[in-house]
Amino acid sequence: MAEAVIFLGPPGAGKGTQAKRLALELGFRQLSTGDILRSHVARGTELGQQAKPLMEAGKLVPDEIILGLIGQELAEMPDPKVIFDGFPRTLAQAEALDRLLAERKIRLLGVLLVTAPEEELVRRLLGRALEEGRSDDNESTIRARMVEYRQKTQPLVDYYKKTGYLKEINGLGKVDEVYQAIQKALGVGVS
Ligand code: AMP
Repeated sequence: MAEAVIFLGPPGAGKGTQAKRLALELGFRQLSTGDILRSHVARGTELGQQAKPLMEAGKLVPDEIILGLIGQELAEMPDPKVIFDGFPRTLAQAEALDRLLAERKIRLLGVLLVTAPEEELVRRLLGRALEEGRSDDNESTIRARMVEYRQKTQPLVDYYKKTGYLKEINGLGKVDEVYQAIQKALGVGVS
């Protein structure tokens, strides 16, 4: 059966790490719009050239571009089993995703909201800048990404709360502890 999980939360909450692990355990495909965009930027595609300055400024990429990417990915999957990582990030994206899920008869297993205090998020992102050298992990871009999150993505918390799919996960603990909380929230794996 076609199924999906959504990871929601601010930059630095650990969504990518947790999404990757959950995807491995469930045999789902992790769809990270950030990773797809970074691959376009690295290859210098037209889309990558459009997205690059926005990503470096900590701004969201336009919904049409993101929805085009997601539509393309899903179209290639006959029986989607997907973990959305970093998507949706705006109300328009969430509404479009609802329509896609309904059309493709994909069952939503849960929306995992992974959060941590902002100072901890900034600290982690600055640490990641040293480890991975991501060009959007510098202090001014990080602050801009936090503002985008608060203004455009945070409203999705209420949106999904109303649907009953939202599961809040404390992202402050160790990677293993956070993962166990995710397993528990979704009712998967051994507890
Ligand atoms: P991430 O790796 O998820 O932190 O994404 C890195 C950057 O890619 C973000 O700061 C945005 O510029 C862009 N991006 C990724 N996903 C989305 C999305 N769903 N909507 C708009 N922009 C996105």
